[in-house]
Amino acid sequence: MPTINEILNTMDYGSAPESQKEAQAWLDGHQRTFGLFIDNAWSAPAELFASTNPADGTQLAELTQASDADVERAVEAARRALPVWQGMGGHGRAKVMYALARLLQKHSRLFAVLETLDNGKTIRETRDIDLPLAARHFYHHAGWAQLQSEEFADYRAVGVVGQIVPWNFPLLMLSWKIAPALAAGNTVVFKPAEFTSLTAMLFAELCVQAGVPAGVVNIVTGDGRVGSAIVNHPGVDKIAFTGSTEVGRLIREATAGSGKKLSLELGGKSPFIVFEDADLDGAVEGLVDSIWFNQGQVCCAGSRLLVQESVQERFLNKVRARMENLRLGSPLDKSMDVGALVDPVQRQRIAALVDSARAEGCDVWQPACELPLDGSWFPPTLITGASTSAAVAQAEIFGPVLVAMSFRTPPEAVQLANNTVYGLAASVWTESISLALDIAPAIKAGVVWINSANQFDAACGFGGYRESGFGREGGREGMLEYMTALAEDARPALPVAEAKAKGNVKPAPADPFAIDRTAKMYIGGKQARPDSAYSAPVFGANGALLAEVGVGSRKDIRNAVEAAHKASGWTSATAHNRAQVLYYIAENLAARADEFAARIAAMTGSKNPEKEVQASIERLFYYAAWADKYDGLAHQPPTKGITVALNEAVGVIGIVCPNEAPLLGFISLVAPAIALGNRVVVVPSEAHPLSALDLYQVFDTSDLPGGVVNIISGNADELARTLATHADIDAVWRHDGSAEGCAEVERLSAGTLKRTWVGGAKGRDWYSAAQSGGRAVLAHASQVKNVWIPYGV
Ligand code: NAD
Repeated sequence: MPTINEILNTMDYGSAPESQKEAQAWLDGHQRTFGLFIDNAWSAPAELFASTNPADGTQLAELTQASDADVERAVEAARRALPVWQGMGGHGRAKVMYALARLLQKHSRLFAVLETLDNGKTIRETRDIDLPLAARHFYHHAGWAQLQSEEFADYRAVGVVGQIVPWNFPLLMLSWKIAPALAAGNTVVFKPAEFTSLTAMLFAELCVQAGVPAGVVNIVTGDGRVGSAIVNHPGVDKIAFTGSTEVGRLIREATAGSGKKLSLELGGKSPFIVFEDADLDGAVEGLVDSIWFNQGQVCCAGSRLLVQESVQERFLNKVRARMENLRLGSPLDKSMDVGALVDPVQRQRIAALVDSARAEGCDVWQPACELPLDGSWFPPTLITGASTSAAVAQAEIFGPVLVAMSFRTPPEAVQLANNTVYGLAASVWTESISLALDIAPAIKAGVVWINSANQFDAACGFGGYRESGFGREGGREGMLEYMTALAEDARPALPVAEAKAKGNVKPAPADPFAIDRTAKMYIGGKQARPDSAYSAPVFGANGALLAEVGVGSRKDIRNAVEAAHKASGWTSATAHNRAQVLYYIAENLAARADEFAARIAAMTGSKNPEKEVQASIERLFYYAAWADKYDGLAHQPPTKGITVALNEAVGVIGIVCPNEAPLLGFISLVAPAIALGNRVVVVPSEAHPLSALDLYQVFDTSDLPGGVVNIISGNADELARTLATHADIDAVWRHDGSAEGCAEVERLSAGTLKRTWVGGAKGRDWYSAAQSGGRAVLAHASQVKNVWIPYGV
């Protein structure tokens, strides 16, 4: 059978332009000027900025730069609309969302042409990908609205949601944001990207036609200042952001301590891995869809080609030949493969990165192709000979530029694939299903496409690991991003017990023969003295000195993190094994229940310390039970194949424990984390650390591998700071009732975009299974990876 390339070589194309008449008429109908859509009404246009067609540089329309007062009005309208929208019930919302889906389908050609004019992507893509997927998103989420009370009975809508999107999939990102938010009963203030707001304006008209009540969807246009006003508005309960990692970091910092829920879909540098046994011609077509789709302006573009050395030359020759056949030109021409870049700014950025590769001595190859004189264009580009640390190998280029490297063995492929700060997606090409399914879990990315690329569906979650952000869009997990567990509302206003007076730090005894009563820390399965050689006294409820504990430092945390990383075997161990160890810990704790009860009583003065020990044993059983039952899902999207959603461990989690219920609080946080395969570095209650430190004896007798649980006592604020800034920690949880401490953890976590779970100033009933257990806690301890497995194609 001839390859696509061989067929293309024999073909000659005439031009096949799509008509832009209706789209231009629609723009004319609005005098090419737009105000803001607030409360189902259009504001008078003000402080205008231009929206241009990047394919020829002509101005399409002018849009309004929203002011802070406009954002205020939009948030107020959204707040007012909440009871109306929620009062309609799941079925009422489902009907409106279904109407939106139908209207999107009805007007899909107008939307597709308008999107192509505004963004520069080809009509083939807007017509065949963006529009069908946008409509699918509203259909799918109309279904979630209908089923919400049954499927999410323990949750409520978050409230007013601020949503900010980039320019690369303007309408599709709008639907990924607005559909789940509305389904869950939220109202929204949505901001499109300043380059590409026109389809959002058209969508606003559909909202009125579909019967969306006033204030439920508000659309404000403008640049990053408008985004920032939404992010910082105190009346917004959640921010959902898609865009660059750089802005994502700013948003993480700005929302720290505000209590706003946050999801971030950020940048990527995704690997496209080709093994020697792959269908090479199929892989070439996959690569075209992966890096030249939307001119490479795709967060999950397969921008790093990793090809097995034995087939490297043959494969790259095929890639070059295929690149020669890519047709670049007018995006409205139905036979074009590559359209225009969104803006000259983007072209300059891409050109600068490609120039840096030339300067570093890389080979930069581009097919002979004529670029249109007007507008913003860049030819498909292949870079070889780059080192792994080269700017083009590490930075997100966000253009039609592929950087190719080779590997010898599967482990080397995985190592190269993970050699990035990002973790959005990966493509794996091999005819061996066993190799593919072995590689997929090893890659640190939220989506893995086997023998395919850039597949999306509303039923399958999409989102990143590491600096590609957190939170998911699509699927069940995507819905949860727009809801709050009812158990959170039931939390007490303050921690149940106040922390006791803290001891003063003093030097450890100087006399080498003095008996050292300092309770040791626990690192890598061994007792450890603090690196600082300082200890602090722990006083009992009656004021007597109970013992001393080590004052942990930055160095101790570093050692603990290192030990936790070495214990990666725990993550790959079977869930059955992990469950057994948790049961065994419970059994050994039960054997020493009296001793632990006495310790709790001495520390806290508790009248019923046995209750806390028994609750701790039960909680260990509870998470042992969950360890092998928190299964993923198998989705059946409308493509031929299955998508397997796996609940994977997050990695190394830093945990700061509560002061109340010092044993139960510790167990309630550590047990879910390790049950799902994470390794932890734990700071026990600063006021009452002894029962957590006593646990090392229980761990040692329970077959818990060294390094899975590491315990560092000391000053909670300082240690939390170190955890939040450590580059090799994947998530930080803080639950000691310190509002400022929790805010600081969130702020500092922005450096490497760690996931955080903080309790803030409120308390938590650690005895309540609803508040300290359940899927909401397990979701914090895991991240969903969607593996797409096509078949029969
Ligand atoms: P960007 O971060 O510059 O802008 C994104 C949006 O944020 C725009 O609407 C912009 O106006 C707004 N914004 C800018 N500064 C802001 C601030 N300080 N506060 C609040 N909002 C602000 O990104 P971009 O250049 O428009 O888009 C490209 C980036 O988006 C790439 O990094 C790409 O990987 C990423 N992206 C990610 C996904 C995903 O799902 N992970 C999808 C598409 C694009």
